[in-house]
Amino acid sequence: MRKTYKYRLYTCERNKHLVESIELASVVWNHFVALTRRYYEIYGEYPGYYALKKHLTKLKQRDKGHWYDLNSQALQNVIERLDQAYQRFFEIDSAGRPGFKKREKYTSFTLTQTGWKLLGGNRVRIQNHNYKFVKSRPIKGEIKTVTIKRDACGYLWICFSVEKEPPTPELPRTGNAVGLDFGLKDFLVTSDGDRIQAPEPLQESLEEVQDLHKKLSRKERGSNNRKEAKRRLAKKYRQIDNQRKDFHFKLARRLFSRYDVVCIEELNVGAMKELWGRKVSDLGFASFVKILEHVAQKEGKEVRKIDRWFPSSQTCSDCSHRYEDLSLEERTWTCEECGSLHDRDLNAARNVLERALSSAEAGVRPSGAAARVARSS
Ligand SMILES: [Zn+2]
Repeated sequence: MRKTYKYRLYTCERNKHLVESIELASVVWNHFVALTRRYYEIYGEYPGYYALKKHLTKLKQRDKGHWYDLNSQALQNVIERLDQAYQRFFEIDSAGRPGFKKREKYTSFTLTQTGWKLLGGNRVRIQNHNYKFVKSRPIKGEIKTVTIKRDACGYLWICFSVEKEPPTPELPRTGNAVGLDFGLKDFLVTSDGDRIQAPEPLQESLEEVQDLHKKLSRKERGSNNRKEAKRRLAKKYRQIDNQRKDFHFKLARRLFSRYDVVCIEELNVGAMKELWGRKVSDLGFASFVKILEHVAQKEGKEVRKIDRWFPSSQTCSDCSHRYEDLSLEERTWTCEECGSLHDRDLNAARNVLERALSSAEAGVRPSGAAARVARSS
Protein backbone atom coordinates (compact mmCIF):
# COMPACT_ATOMS: atom_id res chain seq x y z
CA MET A 1 0.00 0.00 0.00
CA ARG A 2 1.17 3.49 -0.84
CA LYS A 3 0.84 6.64 1.19
CA THR A 4 1.74 10.16 0.10
CA TYR A 5 3.32 12.88 2.23
CA LYS A 6 2.86 16.30 0.73
CA TYR A 7 4.79 19.42 1.80
CA ARG A 8 5.05 22.92 0.44
CA LEU A 9 8.43 24.06 -0.80
CA TYR A 10 9.73 27.40 0.41
CA THR A 11 9.74 29.98 -2.31
CA CYS A 12 13.22 30.86 -3.49
CA GLU A 13 15.19 31.83 -6.56
CA ARG A 14 16.18 28.22 -7.29
CA ASN A 15 12.53 27.17 -7.68
CA LYS A 16 12.78 28.34 -11.30
CA HIS A 17 14.79 25.18 -12.03
CA LEU A 18 11.88 23.07 -10.85
CA VAL A 19 9.42 25.09 -12.88
CA GLU A 20 11.63 24.61 -15.93
CA SER A 21 11.66 20.88 -15.30
CA ILE A 22 7.87 20.77 -15.12
CA GLU A 23 7.66 22.71 -18.35
CA LEU A 24 10.15 20.46 -20.05
CA ALA A 25 8.09 17.45 -18.91
CA SER A 26 5.02 19.04 -20.47
CA VAL A 27 6.92 19.54 -23.76
CA VAL A 28 7.85 15.85 -23.72
CA TRP A 29 4.25 14.88 -22.98
CA ASN A 30 2.93 16.85 -25.91
CA HIS A 31 5.68 15.56 -28.18
CA PHE A 32 4.67 11.98 -27.42
CA VAL A 33 0.96 12.67 -27.66
CA ALA A 34 1.59 13.98 -31.19
CA LEU A 35 3.79 10.99 -31.94
CA THR A 36 1.25 8.38 -30.79
CA ARG A 37 -1.45 10.11 -32.80
CA ARG A 38 0.66 10.13 -35.95
CA TYR A 39 1.55 6.52 -35.36
CA TYR A 40 -2.13 5.68 -35.02
CA GLU A 41 -2.98 7.42 -38.27
CA ILE A 42 -0.33 5.43 -40.12
CA TYR A 43 -0.48 2.00 -38.45
CA GLY A 44 -3.91 2.05 -36.83
CA GLU A 45 -2.60 1.10 -33.41
CA TYR A 46 -0.90 2.36 -30.26
CA PRO A 47 2.87 1.62 -30.37
CA GLY A 48 3.09 0.51 -26.71
CA TYR A 49 5.23 1.57 -23.77
CA TYR A 50 8.49 -0.13 -24.76
CA ALA A 51 8.51 1.32 -28.26
CA LEU A 52 7.95 4.79 -26.77
CA LYS A 53 10.75 4.29 -24.28
CA LYS A 54 13.18 3.23 -27.00
CA HIS A 55 12.16 6.19 -29.07
CA LEU A 56 12.79 8.52 -26.14
CA THR A 57 16.42 7.38 -25.93
CA LYS A 58 16.85 7.86 -29.66
CA LEU A 59 15.37 11.36 -29.55
CA LYS A 60 17.72 12.43 -26.76
CA GLN A 61 20.72 11.23 -28.74
CA ARG A 62 19.53 12.80 -31.97
CA ASP A 63 18.05 16.27 -31.78
CA LYS A 64 16.57 16.56 -28.28
CA GLY A 65 19.83 16.90 -26.38
CA HIS A 66 18.30 19.54 -24.12
CA TRP A 67 15.93 16.87 -22.73
CA TYR A 68 18.95 15.66 -20.78
CA ASP A 69 18.23 18.59 -18.47
CA LEU A 70 15.45 16.53 -16.97
CA ASN A 71 16.39 13.46 -14.97
CA SER A 72 16.13 10.39 -17.18
CA GLN A 73 13.67 8.67 -14.82
CA ALA A 74 11.50 11.76 -14.79
CA LEU A 75 11.47 11.62 -18.59
CA GLN A 76 10.54 7.97 -18.49
CA ASN A 77 7.79 8.80 -16.02
CA VAL A 78 6.18 11.11 -18.58
CA ILE A 79 5.92 8.15 -20.93
CA GLU A 80 4.61 5.93 -18.15
CA ARG A 81 1.88 8.47 -17.47
CA LEU A 82 1.00 8.60 -21.14
CA ASP A 83 0.93 4.81 -21.30
CA GLN A 84 -1.36 4.66 -18.27
CA ALA A 85 -3.64 7.22 -19.87
CA TYR A 86 -3.80 5.06 -23.00
CA GLN A 87 -4.52 1.94 -20.93
CA ARG A 88 -7.40 3.76 -19.25
CA PHE A 89 -8.61 4.88 -22.64
CA PHE A 90 -8.60 1.27 -23.91
CA GLU A 91 -10.19 -0.25 -20.81
CA ILE A 92 -12.74 2.29 -19.65
CA ASP A 93 -15.47 3.36 -22.04
CA SER A 94 -15.87 6.80 -20.54
CA ALA A 95 -12.14 7.60 -20.54
CA GLY A 96 -11.02 10.01 -23.23
CA ARG A 97 -8.04 9.64 -25.51
CA PRO A 98 -4.92 11.21 -23.99
CA GLY A 99 -4.66 14.73 -25.31
CA PHE A 100 -2.34 17.71 -25.58
CA LYS A 101 -1.89 19.73 -22.43
CA LYS A 102 -1.31 23.42 -22.15
CA ARG A 103 1.71 24.51 -20.16
CA GLU A 104 -0.34 25.54 -17.15
CA LYS A 105 -2.30 22.28 -17.16
CA TYR A 106 0.76 20.07 -16.99
CA THR A 107 1.80 20.54 -13.40
CA SER A 108 4.35 18.03 -12.20
CA PHE A 109 7.27 15.70 -12.75
CA THR A 110 8.21 12.55 -10.86
CA LEU A 111 11.57 11.13 -9.79
CA THR A 112 12.12 7.57 -8.66
CA GLN A 113 15.48 6.35 -7.36
CA THR A 114 17.73 9.11 -8.62
CA GLY A 115 17.75 12.86 -8.99
CA TRP A 116 16.81 13.54 -5.37
CA LYS A 117 18.28 13.18 -1.92
CA LEU A 118 17.02 13.99 1.55
CA LEU A 119 19.67 16.09 3.30
CA GLY A 120 18.27 15.81 6.80
CA GLY A 121 15.72 17.99 8.54
CA ASN A 122 13.57 19.75 5.99
CA ARG A 123 16.19 19.95 3.27
CA VAL A 124 16.16 18.08 0.01
CA ARG A 125 18.41 18.08 -3.04
CA ILE A 126 16.67 17.84 -6.39
CA GLN A 127 18.66 17.66 -9.61
CA ASN A 128 21.75 19.48 -8.25
CA HIS A 129 19.95 22.19 -6.28
CA ASN A 130 19.00 22.32 -2.61
CA TYR A 131 15.51 23.22 -1.42
CA LYS A 132 13.65 23.51 1.87
CA PHE A 133 10.12 22.35 2.52
CA VAL A 134 7.60 22.96 5.31
CA LYS A 135 7.99 19.70 7.12
CA SER A 136 4.71 19.41 9.00
CA ARG A 137 5.13 15.76 9.95
CA PRO A 138 7.82 13.08 9.69
CA ILE A 139 7.98 10.72 6.71
CA LYS A 140 7.51 7.09 7.70
CA GLY A 141 8.31 4.22 5.35
CA GLU A 142 10.46 3.66 2.29
CA ILE A 143 10.24 6.48 -0.27
CA LYS A 144 9.35 5.12 -3.73
CA THR A 145 8.80 8.30 -5.72
CA VAL A 146 9.25 12.04 -5.32
CA THR A 147 6.93 14.34 -7.24
CA ILE A 148 7.30 18.09 -7.65
CA LYS A 149 3.97 19.75 -8.23
CA ARG A 150 2.90 23.29 -9.09
CA ASP A 151 -0.51 24.39 -7.85
CA ALA A 152 -2.87 26.91 -9.42
CA CYS A 153 -1.38 29.70 -7.29
CA GLY A 154 2.11 28.93 -8.52
CA TYR A 155 3.31 27.38 -5.25
CA LEU A 156 5.51 24.31 -5.50
CA TRP A 157 4.87 21.18 -3.48
CA ILE A 158 6.96 18.09 -2.90
CA CYS A 159 5.16 14.76 -2.56
CA PHE A 160 6.87 11.68 -1.20
CA SER A 161 5.10 8.45 -2.04
CA VAL A 162 6.09 5.76 0.45
CA GLU A 163 5.46 2.07 0.78
CA LYS A 164 3.31 1.81 3.86
CA GLU A 165 4.53 -0.71 6.37
CA PRO A 166 2.17 -3.62 6.95
CA PRO A 167 0.11 -3.23 10.12
CA THR A 168 1.65 -4.77 13.21
CA PRO A 169 -0.50 -7.43 14.84
CA GLU A 170 -1.73 -6.51 18.32
CA LEU A 171 -3.49 -9.69 19.36
CA PRO A 172 -1.56 -12.62 20.86
CA ARG A 173 -0.82 -15.90 19.07
CA THR A 174 -2.72 -18.65 20.82
CA GLY A 175 -2.45 -21.70 18.55
CA ASN A 176 -6.18 -22.29 19.02
CA ALA A 177 -8.99 -22.75 16.51
CA VAL A 178 -12.73 -22.42 16.95
CA GLY A 179 -15.86 -23.20 14.95
CA LEU A 180 -18.88 -20.88 14.80
CA ASP A 181 -22.55 -21.45 14.18
CA PHE A 182 -24.68 -18.42 13.34
CA GLY A 183 -28.27 -18.14 14.52
CA LEU A 184 -31.14 -15.89 15.44
CA LYS A 185 -31.56 -16.40 19.17
CA ASP A 186 -27.84 -16.44 19.70
CA PHE A 187 -25.95 -14.39 17.14
CA LEU A 188 -23.39 -17.15 17.28
CA VAL A 189 -22.43 -20.21 19.29
CA THR A 190 -18.80 -21.30 19.41
CA SER A 191 -17.51 -24.85 19.43
CA ASP A 192 -16.30 -24.11 22.97
CA GLY A 193 -19.88 -23.51 24.04
CA ASP A 194 -19.82 -19.69 24.26
CA ARG A 195 -23.11 -18.10 23.29
CA ILE A 196 -23.02 -14.56 21.98
CA GLN A 197 -26.15 -12.50 21.60
CA ALA A 198 -26.61 -9.35 19.59
CA PRO A 199 -26.51 -6.46 22.08
CA GLU A 200 -29.75 -5.17 23.56
CA PRO A 201 -29.55 -1.66 22.08
CA LEU A 202 -29.32 -3.17 18.62
CA GLN A 203 -32.36 -5.35 19.19
CA GLU A 204 -34.32 -2.42 20.62
CA SER A 205 -33.36 -0.24 17.67
CA LEU A 206 -34.59 -2.88 15.28
CA GLU A 207 -37.99 -2.84 16.98
CA GLU A 208 -38.04 0.95 16.82
CA VAL A 209 -37.42 0.79 13.09
CA GLN A 210 -40.52 -1.31 12.58
CA ASP A 211 -42.43 1.26 14.58
CA LEU A 212 -41.07 4.15 12.53
CA HIS A 213 -41.93 2.35 9.33
CA LYS A 214 -45.52 1.99 10.48
CA LYS A 215 -45.70 5.68 11.41
CA LEU A 216 -44.25 6.70 8.05
CA SER A 217 -46.82 4.71 6.14
CA ARG A 218 -49.61 6.57 7.95
CA LYS A 219 -48.34 10.03 6.99
CA GLU A 220 -49.77 11.83 4.02
CA ARG A 221 -47.64 11.86 0.87
CA GLY A 222 -45.74 15.10 0.33
CA SER A 223 -46.53 16.38 3.81
CA ASN A 224 -43.98 17.88 6.16
CA ASN A 225 -44.88 15.21 8.69
CA ARG A 226 -43.89 12.58 6.22
CA LYS A 227 -40.59 14.29 5.54
CA GLU A 228 -39.90 14.42 9.25
CA ALA A 229 -40.79 10.73 9.66
CA LYS A 230 -38.47 9.85 6.80
CA ARG A 231 -35.66 11.84 8.34
CA ARG A 232 -36.15 10.05 11.66
CA LEU A 233 -36.11 6.68 9.99
CA ALA A 234 -32.90 7.46 8.11
CA LYS A 235 -31.30 8.62 11.34
CA LYS A 236 -32.36 5.44 13.10
CA TYR A 237 -30.92 3.33 10.30
CA ARG A 238 -27.61 5.13 10.56
CA GLN A 239 -27.60 4.58 14.30
CA ILE A 240 -28.32 0.87 13.83
CA ASP A 241 -25.58 0.58 11.28
CA ASN A 242 -23.09 2.05 13.74
CA GLN A 243 -24.25 -0.13 16.61
CA ARG A 244 -24.01 -3.20 14.45
CA LYS A 245 -20.55 -2.35 13.17
CA ASP A 246 -19.35 -1.66 16.68
CA PHE A 247 -20.69 -5.01 17.88
CA HIS A 248 -19.14 -6.86 14.94
CA PHE A 249 -15.72 -5.28 15.40
CA LYS A 250 -15.60 -5.94 19.12
CA LEU A 251 -16.72 -9.52 18.64
CA ALA A 252 -14.18 -10.15 15.87
CA ARG A 253 -11.35 -8.82 18.04
CA ARG A 254 -12.57 -10.83 21.01
CA LEU A 255 -12.57 -14.02 18.95
CA PHE A 256 -9.13 -13.40 17.50
CA SER A 257 -7.69 -12.58 20.91
CA ARG A 258 -8.51 -16.17 21.89
CA TYR A 259 -8.12 -17.98 18.57
CA ASP A 260 -5.76 -17.94 15.58
CA VAL A 261 -8.20 -19.67 13.24
CA VAL A 262 -11.94 -19.04 13.14
CA CYS A 263 -13.91 -21.58 11.11
CA ILE A 264 -17.30 -20.79 9.63
CA GLU A 265 -19.69 -22.13 7.08
CA GLU A 266 -19.78 -20.37 3.73
CA LEU A 267 -22.78 -18.05 4.15
CA ASN A 268 -25.83 -18.43 2.01
CA VAL A 269 -27.77 -15.33 2.98
CA GLY A 270 -30.56 -16.09 0.52
CA ALA A 271 -31.25 -19.47 2.08
CA MET A 272 -30.95 -18.04 5.59
CA LYS A 273 -33.58 -15.44 4.76
CA GLU A 274 -35.90 -18.09 3.44
CA LEU A 275 -35.47 -20.07 6.62
CA TRP A 276 -35.46 -17.27 9.17
CA GLY A 277 -37.01 -14.26 7.49
CA ARG A 278 -36.05 -10.62 7.39
CA LYS A 279 -34.20 -10.62 10.69
CA VAL A 280 -31.19 -12.14 8.96
CA SER A 281 -30.36 -8.86 7.24
CA ASP A 282 -30.90 -6.98 10.50
CA LEU A 283 -28.16 -8.95 12.17
CA GLY A 284 -25.81 -8.50 9.21
CA PHE A 285 -24.04 -11.87 9.16
CA ALA A 286 -22.43 -11.14 5.81
CA SER A 287 -20.95 -7.86 7.01
CA PHE A 288 -19.77 -9.59 10.19
CA VAL A 289 -17.87 -12.13 8.07
CA LYS A 290 -16.26 -9.27 6.12
CA ILE A 291 -15.17 -7.63 9.34
CA LEU A 292 -13.92 -10.96 10.64
CA GLU A 293 -11.78 -11.35 7.53
CA HIS A 294 -10.55 -7.77 7.78
CA VAL A 295 -9.42 -8.23 11.38
CA ALA A 296 -7.86 -11.60 10.54
CA GLN A 297 -5.79 -10.05 7.79
CA LYS A 298 -4.67 -7.20 9.99
CA GLU A 299 -3.73 -9.53 12.82
CA GLY A 300 -2.12 -12.23 10.70
CA LYS A 301 -4.89 -14.70 11.62
CA GLU A 302 -7.22 -16.81 9.53
CA VAL A 303 -10.88 -17.27 8.67
CA ARG A 304 -11.44 -20.74 7.25
CA LYS A 305 -14.66 -21.51 5.42
CA ILE A 306 -16.28 -24.87 4.84
CA ASP A 307 -18.69 -25.55 2.00
CA ARG A 308 -22.28 -24.64 2.69
CA TRP A 309 -23.67 -28.08 1.75
CA PHE A 310 -22.06 -29.84 4.68
CA PRO A 311 -24.91 -30.94 7.05
CA SER A 312 -23.36 -29.38 10.15
CA SER A 313 -26.59 -29.44 12.19
CA GLN A 314 -27.63 -32.98 11.33
CA THR A 315 -24.32 -34.72 11.95
CA CYS A 316 -23.48 -36.07 15.41
CA SER A 317 -20.22 -34.42 16.42
CA ASP A 318 -19.36 -37.43 18.58
CA CYS A 319 -19.88 -40.36 16.19
CA SER A 320 -20.61 -38.71 12.80
CA HIS A 321 -24.00 -40.42 12.56
CA ARG A 322 -26.38 -38.33 10.47
CA TYR A 323 -29.84 -37.50 11.79
CA GLU A 324 -31.56 -36.44 8.61
CA ASP A 325 -34.99 -35.77 10.07
CA LEU A 326 -33.79 -33.00 12.38
CA SER A 327 -36.40 -30.26 12.22
CA LEU A 328 -35.89 -26.56 12.76
CA GLU A 329 -37.83 -26.67 16.04
CA GLU A 330 -35.59 -29.26 17.65
CA ARG A 331 -33.14 -27.28 19.74
CA THR A 332 -31.70 -30.44 21.28
CA TRP A 333 -31.53 -33.99 20.04
CA THR A 334 -30.18 -37.35 21.11
CA CYS A 335 -28.03 -39.33 18.72
CA GLU A 336 -29.66 -42.72 18.22
CA GLU A 337 -26.30 -44.21 17.36
CA CYS A 338 -24.13 -43.20 20.32
CA GLY A 339 -26.66 -41.72 22.71
CA SER A 340 -25.04 -38.26 22.94
CA LEU A 341 -27.39 -35.45 23.85
CA HIS A 342 -26.72 -32.49 21.55
CA ASP A 343 -27.48 -28.82 21.72
CA ARG A 344 -28.28 -28.08 18.11
CA ASP A 345 -26.06 -25.00 17.67
CA LEU A 346 -23.11 -26.19 19.72
CA ASN A 347 -23.12 -29.47 17.81
CA ALA A 348 -23.10 -27.56 14.51
CA ALA A 349 -20.23 -25.32 15.63
CA ARG A 350 -18.17 -28.37 16.61
CA ASN A 351 -18.82 -29.95 13.23
CA VAL A 352 -17.78 -26.78 11.43
CA LEU A 353 -14.53 -26.79 13.36
CA GLU A 354 -13.82 -30.46 12.71
CA ARG A 355 -14.65 -30.21 9.06
CA ALA A 356 -12.39 -27.17 8.65
CA LEU A 357 -9.52 -28.75 10.55
CA SER A 358 -9.68 -32.07 8.75
CA SER A 359 -7.92 -30.26 5.93
CA ALA A 360 -5.71 -28.32 8.30
CA GLU A 361 -1.98 -28.24 8.74
CA ALA A 362 -0.43 -29.26 12.00
CA GLY A 363 0.25 -26.56 14.54
CA VAL A 364 -3.28 -25.37 15.12
CA ARG A 365 -5.26 -27.23 17.68
CA PRO A 366 -8.88 -26.85 18.61
CA SER A 367 -9.22 -25.60 22.14
CA GLY A 368 -11.25 -26.69 25.14
CA ALA A 369 -14.19 -29.00 24.79
CA ALA A 370 -13.93 -29.07 21.02
CA ALA A 371 -10.34 -30.23 21.34
CA ARG A 372 -11.50 -33.33 23.18
CA VAL A 373 -14.12 -33.97 20.53
CA ALA A 374 -11.66 -33.50 17.70
CA ARG A 375 -9.03 -35.68 19.34
CA SER A 376 -11.37 -38.53 20.20
CA SER A 377 -12.70 -38.79 16.67
ZN1 LIG B 1 -23.58 -40.02 17.76
